[in-house]
Amino acid sequence: MTDLEVPVQRTLRRLFPGTRLENAFQWPIESLDALESSFNVQEYLQQLIRADRSQVDKLVELPKGVDDEVWQYEHLRQVCLELGLLVVALAPECTAENCPEMKAEGWLYLCAAHPATQSCPAIDYIIHTLDGATTLLNNAKYFPSRISVPEPSLKHFQSIARRLYRIFAHAYCHHREIYEIFEASNDTSLYARFRLLSRKYELVPPNLITIPDSGEEDEEEEEEEGEDGYSRSPRASHSTLKETE
Ligand SMILES: [Zn+2]
Ligand SMILES: [Zn+2]
Repeated sequence: MTDLEVPVQRTLRRLFPGTRLENAFQWPIESLDALESSFNVQEYLQQLIRADRSQVDKLVELPKGVDDEVWQYEHLRQVCLELGLLVVALAPECTAENCPEMKAEGWLYLCAAHPATQSCPAIDYIIHTLDGATTLLNNAKYFPSRISVPEPSLKHFQSIARRLYRIFAHAYCHHREIYEIFEASNDTSLYARFRLLSRKYELVPPNLITIPDSGEEDEEEEEEEGEDGYSRSPRASHSTLKETE
């Protein structure tokens, strides 16, 4: 530092090894403008989530000065991060023995994370899907910066969101108690946030979303629609949904 520079009072935002959870992130919330790192949108979003994750309207609302597409990108990265906690919660119950196939809402999903699509146990499907989404979102070829998203990469948002939805759907349909504890009792409101994000940016076709908002009655309505090259058959024990990618 030269003599002419005036030292700026900045909060040191660091998590040191050994910090206890209750002592972590104990720094004041800063405005987006005050966050000067290259990852400021992510940091800002994480601040909002830590402040009150149940205020999903506030979390999804586009902050001033942030690019719409970057906002979706950061949200999807964050949902992938937090879904890891759902995987941990599911692991004791969602085993290869209990759930030998990835099913949800009467559909069987084939895993696209292999040279040829194949059936995976649900927990493997979930992990492969999260790995695939994370790898794609971190691929500098498609997402080279955190301040803009190239137009051709936008299509990936929908395919990622559609697959992430299935993770929620499997948990909701087959492990309801774990899902409820994760979503409501632990107050993650992660599905509520994901659903709002998906609606706002039309990431998942509304007819594919069947998990009700919390408090809504479980709807038994079914819709049949061919979409994106996959076929959907009515709810039945052997209905099949095939991935095309
Ligand atoms: Zn399962
Ligand atoms: Zn797989």
